[in-house]
Amino acid sequence: NNTGSKPHVVLLASIGMGHLIPILELGKRLSTHHNFDVTIFVVASQSSAAESQILHSAMTENLCEIVELPPVNISGLVSPDAAVGTQICVIMRAIKPALRSAISGLSFRPAALIVDLFGSEAMMVADDFDMPKYVYIPSNAWFLALTIYIPTLDKVVQGEYVDQKEPLKIPGCKAVRPEDVVDPMVDRADQHYLEYVRMSMDIPKCDGILLNIWEDLQPKTLEALRDEELLGQLCKQPSESVIYVSFGSGGTLSLEQMVELAWGLELSQQRFIWVVRAPSRKTGDGSYFTAGSGEANSMASYFPEGFLDRIGEVGLLIQDWAPQVEILSHPSVGGFISHCGWNSTLEAITNGVPVIAWPLYAEQRMNAALLTEELGVAVRPNILASEGVVGRTEIEMMIRTITVDKEATHIRNRVKKLKYSAAKSLSEGGSSYNALSLVAKKLELRWKSMEVNAS
Ligand code: UDP
Repeated sequence: NNTGSKPHVVLLASIGMGHLIPILELGKRLSTHHNFDVTIFVVASQSSAAESQILHSAMTENLCEIVELPPVNISGLVSPDAAVGTQICVIMRAIKPALRSAISGLSFRPAALIVDLFGSEAMMVADDFDMPKYVYIPSNAWFLALTIYIPTLDKVVQGEYVDQKEPLKIPGCKAVRPEDVVDPMVDRADQHYLEYVRMSMDIPKCDGILLNIWEDLQPKTLEALRDEELLGQLCKQPSESVIYVSFGSGGTLSLEQMVELAWGLELSQQRFIWVVRAPSRKTGDGSYFTAGSGEANSMASYFPEGFLDRIGEVGLLIQDWAPQVEILSHPSVGGFISHCGWNSTLEAITNGVPVIAWPLYAEQRMNAALLTEELGVAVRPNILASEGVVGRTEIEMMIRTITVDKEATHIRNRVKKLKYSAAKSLSEGGSSYNALSLVAKKLELRWKSMEVNAS
């Protein structure tokens, strides 16, 4: 039923009913609801009667074309005692040549390849045909969050996961109790674990992930995963190339100022991430703190015409809030346009990021003066942003000063020095560490004397 008049997707189901059924369902949905031609490749196995029956009925429905790939012999590749998960991974790796030749034998050019979790390595075949690749995880967002976080856990967790005393922390998500970890994590020496780590590194290389849940089921975990996606985008940028723009938890700019900033960023030709907040009526302030002061328009209405189309891959706009600390600590970030709230100031310094100091309210003008005049890690507009509009050319110049101009190297060196000095002061025996220890000791002594007096 492939007419050639519709877009065509290719799906690959790995072995096992739990993988085959969701892929068939997804294929059917793409065909019936979204008018795609769908080809599903399945891997021939000593399929059970139930599996044959499911395949047979899917073929009879005739919604998707189902093509069985020739069986692969893995007898020399994996021990027969290996975990089922390991065996599936090995089969899906061995199937790559067959998948490649099946795709090249198609009479049409597929719009995308969709694989399931175990097919993540075979997904790379899509690159040979220059087509997008998607992973369909027939499971939930928490599992996905754990899975893509495995390379980090692998570095920081000592010993077996199941022997840990504390739950395993995953950014933005519910922690995972050691006794609840997924099967491949039970024995870190086993091939099953190595396959899982490999899988967790393959998944983020795809163009998109499909999950078998809905928004309201796991909203927090999905939010955390989307943050991860943003950081994944950052990973693709050259080091110290991205300007992060944010005016704290409450800073807003006037519409006129937002337009100038947009132009300035564009003229600078640097990559950027801008945490965008609805403009305020005043020049620049913290009016976001006062409910209802921001105009609730769509983002497009804040910017010069065509800006959103022109920025393409160069600029990323995020509405209202972004994971600032993670962004600033990312190696791709090379500058920060900041309102100089003290938290943001410290976050810039401790991550070694040069600043364009754009104070708006509170003690921020003093912080900006400290950063530029005393520490030499920032540049600042000539006029106060709270009193006028900073023009696009000046913005462009400031961005160039902290990124590509000669002066940028000096600023970077100074802020890197401060980064190391901050890290030193915070580590055991450092000045900040000792200062807080002193306070803690005093409090302890006082508490002890109160105990003695009370008894
Ligand atoms: N912050 C964030 N994401 C945002 C904006 C702000 O995580 O999109 C955090 C930022 O990392 C900092 C705090 O909110 O820790 C803002 O504090 P700061 O003193 O810089 O400014 P304020 O919001 O108090 O003006």
